[in-house]
Amino acid sequence: MADFEQVFATRVFSDVVMRKRLSADTYKKLHRVIDDGSELDITVANEVAKAMKEWAMENGATHYTHWFQPMTGVAAEKHDSFISVQKDGSVLAEFSGKKLIKGEPDASSFPSGGLRSTFEARGYTAWDPTSYVFLKDNTLCIPTVFCSYSGQVLDKKTPLLRSLKALSTEAVRVLHLLGKTDVTAVNAEVGAEQEYFLVDKDLCTKRRDLLYTGRTLFGAKPPKTQELDDHYFGTLRPEVKAFMAELDEELWKLGIYACTEHNEAAPSQHELAPIYTDANRATDQNQLTMEIMKKVADRMGLCCLLHEKPFAHINGSGKHNNWSLSTNTGENLFKPGHDPYNNTQFLIFLSALIKAVDEYQDLLRISVASASNDHRLGAAEAPPAIVSMYFGDELGGMLDAIVKGKKWNGVDREKMEVGAGSVPEFAKDTSDRNRTSPFAFTGNKFEFRMVGSSQSIADPNMVLNTIMANALSEFADRLERVKDKEAGARKLIRDTLKKHSRIIFNGNNYSDEWVSEAEARGLCNYRTAADAIPHFADKKNVELFEKHKVFTETEIHSRTEIMLEAYFKITKIEAQTMLSMVRCDILPAVYGYEKSLCDLIVQKDAASLPGGHERIVVNRIATGADELYNAANTLDAAIAGSDSPRNAIDAASYMRDVLIPAMNEVRTIADALEINVGAKHWPFPTYGELLLH
Ligand code: ADP
Ligand code: MG
Repeated sequence: MADFEQVFATRVFSDVVMRKRLSADTYKKLHRVIDDGSELDITVANEVAKAMKEWAMENGATHYTHWFQPMTGVAAEKHDSFISVQKDGSVLAEFSGKKLIKGEPDASSFPSGGLRSTFEARGYTAWDPTSYVFLKDNTLCIPTVFCSYSGQVLDKKTPLLRSLKALSTEAVRVLHLLGKTDVTAVNAEVGAEQEYFLVDKDLCTKRRDLLYTGRTLFGAKPPKTQELDDHYFGTLRPEVKAFMAELDEELWKLGIYACTEHNEAAPSQHELAPIYTDANRATDQNQLTMEIMKKVADRMGLCCLLHEKPFAHINGSGKHNNWSLSTNTGENLFKPGHDPYNNTQFLIFLSALIKAVDEYQDLLRISVASASNDHRLGAAEAPPAIVSMYFGDELGGMLDAIVKGKKWNGVDREKMEVGAGSVPEFAKDTSDRNRTSPFAFTGNKFEFRMVGSSQSIADPNMVLNTIMANALSEFADRLERVKDKEAGARKLIRDTLKKHSRIIFNGNNYSDEWVSEAEARGLCNYRTAADAIPHFADKKNVELFEKHKVFTETEIHSRTEIMLEAYFKITKIEAQTMLSMVRCDILPAVYGYEKSLCDLIVQKDAASLPGGHERIVVNRIATGADELYNAANTLDAAIAGSDSPRNAIDAASYMRDVLIPAMNEVRTIADALEINVGAKHWPFPTYGELLLH
């Protein structure tokens, strides 16, 4: 077990390293760039680059790369060595400010959603000094943004940074109006709890569905999965414990505050939560965490599955995105304090968020929309596709009192007595938790629980920041017009809560009643990604993003196209994998079993042995095989039909309406066969073998 104080951030060009290795003047100037966004001087960049190179080489690096997050959802790297050839043919290690600031990767193979014709290949990466440079695989990795030759955004980081800027501007405006003039910046803080599955690598490699799609496309439900709740928080298996220890060490070295680890609800499912940090770094770090998880697992003979629903019949994986706002003076703006009812500042930020979530519930839904997350949302294991907010009894009661103009005296904090003499008394929380809510207030932060386990947290946080910036900007406009700011703010809070409290729901989000009630309340319910994504480009959303300079209209259309294309491609790959597994693995295996039964029947007949149940069994199998053969042909035709030219929206709808139902049919028949075919004939590891060992 590593001593984390020894290893922590040893692979990060951290603030401590910067202070040590840069001249006082350069360090100060660089901080001005990081903290206030002032322009970066090339002489500063040159000195920083030199220090980075020296530090990296002392730590074994030979290469550097601009590390960016294109729309593929995985980080991209193009390694260049520090080598520089001199006039006399000798070589030197060099790294200039220019190379640190700007890179020019060929952008033509990254998704652009029609932003760029193929002949316009040039793209730029540009250093983001607000995230730390780090060392990975003997390479100095420089977090960068990524845009096209014409300056349009092609990545996930740029919009996130733009949204953070808008958020800070508007939050500071409101705080100044409320008299808090010492605050000059507000940042979003994020802690992303990451769920994942760990399964045996040898077993995984025997299943092409896991290899190609990250999830099982077949698999009958074993008699036991999570019914007994005996996995959640259970003792860690030795190989899992070893994995977590090694993962922790790798993450600590990268300056990631890996902290909490436990078993999750499903067998072989686990969770890792880091301690929160600012949204930009948290996003980079979560991306790195996912990558490192996969690498460490692979090294240890395991396979880390980050897919939202690797196994049917048991819980899938999500990512709880804990989000709060903090000022540069160190104040958490969602901290209720002892007297939340009279805490105008807290209530202003709270009601701004309620307004934001209500007005842009569609955008939050879209920010987590993907083919893989469709399997989770609404399946009574994760929040439904309907966005609502949870405040619990105490705060909910208080908000209700404000709307009704009533006094509110708070709730007395009860003492909990366990009734066992030696167990100390402790204060009970004033409200219970609600695990079913997509967006829950949890004391001094909000937990957005719809995020998928494999997705980048850049999008949901970008949306949260932008919609919050928008609500705050409208608040600031209104407060600017009133004389008595306190009275104006109280009125604003009440008006906002009155208008937007339909978004608050403290009940069971998994229930059918909620679906109908939400509909009655007029809340949006985009069941699938194909339903949700096209609304990204709705007029109100375009206006929002343009107003806060997060996206241009062109960029919005490009993103919509990219998301729809991804939905189409993922579904198609799954369908093709499924078809080939039926034809090349499952049917041949079934034939093998049928043959052995038929041979047996012939031999038994020849020997005039009694009985005849083998005929019943083989008949059942043969019927199943026929059905599977036919369903596979239907799927084949559906796949062929997906090639007809359609626009992106229609192409995604085709997959939702034609291809996915055809896949479901194939699966149902194949899974029924699995439990009727002799185990030694089944061509790949079953759920039982993969999950319960
Ligand atoms: P849970 O009970 O939801 O599983 P955990 O303790 O596992 O809670 O995770 C909570 C996450 O929220 C952690 O990543 C933690 O660092 C993060 N967090 C705590 N306070 C804040 C805050 N003010 N802003 C953002 N994230 C926070
Ligand atoms: Mg949580």
